Amino acid sequence: MASRLPVHRARRGHSGRVSEPVTAAPASARPPGTVLAHAEAAYLGLALGDALGATVEFMTPREIVHHYGVHREIVGGGWLRLKPGQITDDTGMSLALGEAILAKGGNVVPLACAEAFDAWMRSKPIDIGNTVRRNLIRFRNSGNPVAEYSDHDAGNGAAMRVLPVALVTLGRSEAQVRAACRAQARVTHHNALSDAACEFLVLTVQDFITGASLGQVFRQRISPLVQQHPEFAFDERPRRENPSGWIVETVQAVLQALVELDGFEHCLVDVVNRGGDADTTGAIAGMLAGALYGREALPARWLQALDPDIHERCRAQARALAVPD
Ligand SMILES: [Mg+2]
Repeated sequence: MASRLPVHRARRGHSGRVSEPVTAAPASARPPGTVLAHAEAAYLGLALGDALGATVEFMTPREIVHHYGVHREIVGGGWLRLKPGQITDDTGMSLALGEAILAKGGNVVPLACAEAFDAWMRSKPIDIGNTVRRNLIRFRNSGNPVAEYSDHDAGNGAAMRVLPVALVTLGRSEAQVRAACRAQARVTHHNALSDAACEFLVLTVQDFITGASLGQVFRQRISPLVQQHPEFAFDERPRRENPSGWIVETVQAVLQALVELDGFEHCLVDVVNRGGDADTTGAIAGMLAGALYGREALPARWLQALDPDIHERCRAQARALAVPD
């Protein structure tokens, strides 16, 4: 799949990467300080992608070209009329979730997650997803923090906020990690495709943070995801432009950008210029690319533009979650 944007340097095809050694990087491949730096980069990457993408949320690629040429600066605006560097619900719900996990000593407790999301909703955030709102109101009325299963609740609202779970469960067994994913996700999204995406994203972030290459992740996470849930197939498919809030289209756009493009900035510029749910594709791509490429890859001008309070909260929470006392 070739990029249509002139700024991008096309990555070699997948067939080249799958010839790399099959052995996964051990969890301890990196010293703790380097793991922490990649954890911080994942959190800052999430916020940067959110702030960058929000400007062009709900625009088509053609509209973005008309207004911006290639959108590559954190300038605010968009349908939410954001200040430059302001973030949206993707980062806001992640921070709320992380605080709830820390308050429970590193455990992901559905009731604590639901209460934290409800408090966040009461703070009158600048935006909120329909499924999130509906199931938090249901929680207020019933007190049950777990949503009923629904084939329709396959939006990206649980996946956009998974990062605190990835950081706090570093080093735990895969079964424990998957259970923690479901504990936070099903507060608002109880759906098989949402669960699959959340667990895939968390395990992938952990692999990158602990030193796995993109080729290794392609074999041990991406290929199994597509085998188990063919809806997510993205390779050798048309460029996923104008991705909706459906988790399948979100993951397809993010994976096409991550796999096809080298470097943090190129990946994020590619994914947000697809338009659609660009703050969430930006946030998820930023989380993955930050975890993969690390702190040095984050553009200084984007970090300068990011809301300073959000910048500090993301860094502090990454440290607290990834390095428990
Ligand atoms: Mg948002």
